[in-house]
Amino acid sequence: MKPPGTLTLLAPLAGWSAPLDEAPDEVFAARLLGDGVAIDPTEGTLHAPCDAVVVLLPASRHAVTLRTAAGCEILLHVGIDTVALGGEGFEAHVSAGARVRAGEPLLSFDLDFLAQRARSVLTPVIVTSDSGWAIRGRTVDRAIALGERLMEVALQRARPDDASLGNAASAAAAVRRLTVSFEHGIHARPAALLAAALRSLAADVRLMARGREANARSTVALMALGVRHGEEIEIRASGPDAHNALNALTAIFNAHESAPRPAQPPPASAAVHPPAGLDLGTAQPGESPAARTVMTYGVLRGVAASPGLAIGPALQLHRPEIRVRETGAGAPAEHAALDSARAEVRARLERTALAAASDAMGTAREIAAAHLELLDDPELIAAARTAIDAGRSAGAAWRAAVRDSADTLRALDDARLRERVDDLLDLEAQVLLVLAGESVEPAAALPEQAIVIARELLPSQLIALDGARLAGIAMAAGGATSHAAILAAAMGIPALVALGPQVLAIPDGAEVILDAAVGALEVAPLEPRLTAARARLAASVAERAALASAAQRECRTADGVRIEVLANVGSVAEAQAAVRNGAEGCGLLRTEFLFLDRLTPPSESEQTAQYQQIADALGERPLTIRTLDAGGDKPIAYLPMPREDNPALGLRGIRTGLAWPQLLRTQLRAVLGVRGPARCRLLLPMITDLEEIEAVRRVLEEVRGELGRSESIAVGVMIETPASALLAERIAAVADFLSIGTNDLTQYTLAMDRGNPQLAARLDALHPAVLRLIARAAEGARTHGRHAAVCGGLASEPIAAPLLVGLGVNELSAVPAVIPQLKARIGSVSLRDCRALAEEALKLPTAAAVRALAADATPAAAQVPA
Ligand code: PEP
Ligand code: MG
Repeated sequence: MKPPGTLTLLAPLAGWSAPLDEAPDEVFAARLLGDGVAIDPTEGTLHAPCDAVVVLLPASRHAVTLRTAAGCEILLHVGIDTVALGGEGFEAHVSAGARVRAGEPLLSFDLDFLAQRARSVLTPVIVTSDSGWAIRGRTVDRAIALGERLMEVALQRARPDDASLGNAASAAAAVRRLTVSFEHGIHARPAALLAAALRSLAADVRLMARGREANARSTVALMALGVRHGEEIEIRASGPDAHNALNALTAIFNAHESAPRPAQPPPASAAVHPPAGLDLGTAQPGESPAARTVMTYGVLRGVAASPGLAIGPALQLHRPEIRVRETGAGAPAEHAALDSARAEVRARLERTALAAASDAMGTAREIAAAHLELLDDPELIAAARTAIDAGRSAGAAWRAAVRDSADTLRALDDARLRERVDDLLDLEAQVLLVLAGESVEPAAALPEQAIVIARELLPSQLIALDGARLAGIAMAAGGATSHAAILAAAMGIPALVALGPQVLAIPDGAEVILDAAVGALEVAPLEPRLTAARARLAASVAERAALASAAQRECRTADGVRIEVLANVGSVAEAQAAVRNGAEGCGLLRTEFLFLDRLTPPSESEQTAQYQQIADALGERPLTIRTLDAGGDKPIAYLPMPREDNPALGLRGIRTGLAWPQLLRTQLRAVLGVRGPARCRLLLPMITDLEEIEAVRRVLEEVRGELGRSESIAVGVMIETPASALLAERIAAVADFLSIGTNDLTQYTLAMDRGNPQLAARLDALHPAVLRLIARAAEGARTHGRHAAVCGGLASEPIAAPLLVGLGVNELSAVPAVIPQLKARIGSVSLRDCRALAEEALKLPTAAAVRALAADATPAAAQVPA
C-alpha cells in the first residue's frame, strides 16, 4: 500500500517520455503551470493516469484537468498550441464532473492531423503547482508504454485555504474591468502567466466572469472559467499589493491586445517606480497599453553564481526548438549525416579551444576539450550507429545514445559524474542543431554591455557569445555550481541564477542592473539609481585595476613582515588566473579534479602531464600538490568504498590513500615526475597522527628509490582535525610545513556538517574554539621553524587576514580572485596590530563576536567583496 499523501501516476499515452524542458513552449518548459513530463505520443487516445474527477474539459477538447480525492491536480495537455484548432481532430469520451478510473480513455485525437497542424504533438503531463503536490520520481528519456509508471508524486503543502485569504468580494480594495485579449481566451498559457505574475505579491485576487469567480493564483480555476476572447471580466484584489496585482494582470492582458506574446521594449517614459522590494512591473500613467509588458520594471531576486555588478540592455536568448525525425532515410545516408554533423561540431569546438587559448578563457577551453572528448566517445558512437542500423534517423539515434549515457551517469551515486550529464546534453543539442540545419551561433548580435537572459544557459551557448559585449548573465533556473556558472566566473562575467520565470518576461532592450553582491536584477531603474550604480561600477573597475597592479608585488605587512599569499587551484585555468592575480604560487592543488569525473583512475603519465601543465603555468613559483582527498563529500565511483553511515568520519583523505596504496603510489610517482623550475611540494590531507605521516613517507622513499630520484621533496601536513591541531608541535617535528584546512577543522571542531544548509550560518571558522586550534597549530610550526599556512576558506576572507597573521600564520592560500584584496589588507596593518587583534579575539565567546571585531577593525573600503 502506498503511504498517505503519495500517488503514482501512470502513463496516459504510449510514446517517448521526455523532460518537460523539451516542450517547445516556455510556459511549460519554465514550469509556470507546474512540474511534470512531456510525452511524444505514438497513439491517439489519452487515458486517465489515476483515479480522479474530471474538473475541466474545455470546448476545444485539447486538454483535460483531473483532481484526485486527495486534491492532486493533473493537467494533460495534448500537443502545443492545440487550443487554436478549436476542437478539430479531438473527440471527448468524458465530460466535466465525471469520475474516472486509472486507465479509462479520456479523449481521442487524430495524431496525423495534429502532426501537420499543431506546433508540436508533445503532450505535457503536469502536476499543477497550486495544488501543493510535488514530483518525487519520474520516468523520462525513454519509450514508455500506456499504463506504465510515469511519476511518483507526494503532497508537499496544504492547498491554500481560500477562507484564510479573506472574502475578496467584500474586502476588495481595487476593482478593474477588462476585455479578454487572449486570442483563444484564458487557456493554459494565459492562466499560467496570470498566476505567475501574482506569485510575489501579497494580495488576494479574484477574476469574475460569466457570473462565476476564480482565485487568480490557481491556473485550474482560471481555466475553469472558460472565458473566451472578447469577453468581459472583472478583477478584484485586496491586500497590501492589491493595486500592484491589478496593474500586473492588466499589463498581461494589454500585452496580448496586439500580439499573442509579450516582447515589446518598455517606453522610455516609464517613470513611476515601486518601492524597493516590489517585484513586478505595473502599468504607468500615460503609457500606451500595447507597449506594456509582463515585466516592464521592478526587482527580481536570485542567487549569485559569479560576482560583480553589470549595467546594460537585456537580451533574451532562447534555445531553438530542435525537431528530430524518428525514422531514417536508409542507414548509409544517416551514418553520413551523423558523421558530417559531428565533423562540423568538432571543427567549431576546435576553433573555440583555439580562440580560448588566452588565459581568461582557460575554462572555456577545458569545457570545449571535454565536449570534444565526448564527441568521439567510442561507446556513444557505437550506440548511435546501432540505432541507425535499426532504422532510426541520425538525430533520433544520436539523441537516444546520448540520453542512454546520461541515464547511466545519473544512476551513479557520484555528484561529479552527474555534472557530466550537462556536458552530454549540451553536446546532444550541438549535433542535433547541425543536423537540423540550424545555426549553433547565437542568432542575435549582442548589443554593447548586454545582459543576456535565458532559462538556463548551456556552456556552449555561453562560449559562443561575444565576451567583449557580454556584461552579465541572468538565468531563470540553474545552480550556482553549474558549468555555465563556473564558466561565467572564469570569464569574470557577473551572473545570477534561479531568478524565476518572470525574468523571461523582461523585454529585449530594457535597461537592467545586475548586482550579484545582493542577488538582485533591477529592471528599468530610475535615473538616480542608474547613476549611482554606474558610479559604483566605475569605482570598482578602478579599484580592481589599482589592486591588481599592486598585487604583483611581494606581500608584506605595513612594518615589513613577509607574509606569503598563494592560491588554491583545481585546474590549469585557475593556475593561470592565480598568476594574473598576483599569487606567489599554489598553496593547495586539489588533485580530486583529476580523479572524480571518470570511471577509472588517471594513469601516472596522465597525472604527470596535468601537474606539469599547472607547474608550467606557475613558472618558478611553488606548487603544493595535495594527495587525493577522496571520500566524504567527494566519493569516487571506481573505488569499492564500503557504505558508511557517516562518511565525513569515514574512509577519507589520507585514509583512502593508505587503504588503496597503489593509488597513492601512482600519484607520488606522478608528482615526482614533474620537471622544470616550479618547486613541487606534497601535502597530506586529513592527518590525525604521526603514524599516518610515517606510512606515507615510507611509500615515498620506496617510490624515490624506484625512480632513482636523489633530491627530496617537501612533505606538508594538513591540519584539518582537532587531533592534528592539538598534536601540531609533534607533527611539525616530522613534517616540512603545516597547512591549516579551516573548512574541515571547523566542521570537526563544531560538530557541524559543512554540507548542511541549516547549519551553514553557524559554521563559522572565526569561532573562538577554531581560532585557538589555529593558534596552537601555528605555535607548533614555529617551535620547529616551519611555515604555518592556512588554505581553508577563511584564508579567502580579507577581514580575517590580520587575525590569522596575528595568530602566527605566515602563509595564506586563497581563491585567485581575492588575492589583490588580501595583499592590500595585509599591507595596511602592522604585525603588532595583528597580534593585539588576535589576542582580543581569543578572549571572545562566540564567532559572531569575533566577526564583529574583525569587521570593526577593517576599513569600509576593504570590506567590498571582490
Ligand atoms: C579544508 O578542509 O579547509 C580544505 C582546504 O580542504 P577541502 O576544502 O578540500 O576539504
Ligand atoms: Mg579538507
